[in-house]
Amino acid sequence: MIYLKSSEEIELIRKSCLLVSKTLAHVGTIIKPGVTGKFLDTEAEAFIRDHGAEPGFKDYNGFPATLCISMNEAVVHGIPTEEEIKENDILSIDCGVYWDSFYGDSAFTFAMPHVSDEIIDLMHATNDSLYLGIEQVKPEARVGNVSHAIQKFIEKDKNYSIVRELVGHGIGRNLHEGPEVPNYGRRGFGPKMKEGLVIAIEPMVNMGKRHVRQSDDGWTIVTRDGKPSAHFEHTVAVTKEGVDILSNHDMVEKAVKNNGEIKTFSRKS
Ligand code: MG
Ligand code: MG
Repeated sequence: MIYLKSSEEIELIRKSCLLVSKTLAHVGTIIKPGVTGKFLDTEAEAFIRDHGAEPGFKDYNGFPATLCISMNEAVVHGIPTEEEIKENDILSIDCGVYWDSFYGDSAFTFAMPHVSDEIIDLMHATNDSLYLGIEQVKPEARVGNVSHAIQKFIEKDKNYSIVRELVGHGIGRNLHEGPEVPNYGRRGFGPKMKEGLVIAIEPMVNMGKRHVRQSDDGWTIVTRDGKPSAHFEHTVAVTKEGVDILSNHDMVEKAVKNNGEIKTFSRKS
């Protein structure tokens, strides 16, 4: 089902999204080689609960944690573990919040200090594709325009691969609502976007081939070829004029910049 939201409902989604962003920024201040995903997860859960909200992913379909932490060849849905983060890891950290009946959802990929330039380029391309997709969001335009903009940039211009099995989604009172927002597709196809539509756009980009599989833990999606994958996500609302980005990566980028023990990463364009 696709539910269009009132401006009051959008403000509640924004509130949840901003808490997600603050949580990711908090993670951005404490993440470094040597700490564990489990530590970050415990911190994130406490941070969210201290604000009077609930983790959006915990117990969702049985997922056991607050954060999805997907490292290196893991694409999404990684479970935080007791394994120490290494100097050359990248980590997609995806966070959801449930607050006053509405979900917020956003993800950011963090790079540890010895990550190669080649992988940083993959991260930049993925992040840039997210904003190219967002640029296509406006009333009366088709979801396929978003999908196509992301796919064209990633596959034609950058020669990376788009994951097909997982897609972006509508969001609101449910974490996942219609419409699906694939990161591949055709301009002029798919549902028409209307004022009040709220969607999470989340390109998942593989350095090698597009194929993925589920790992033995029953959750983590990993690349079949073992090459790295990056993931960035914003929740956005369709407005009368165009688009309103409800989550905020500026505060995450700032935290990363001030961290000192991880690689700086900020939006280029
Ligand atoms: Mg997410
Ligand atoms: Mg999502």
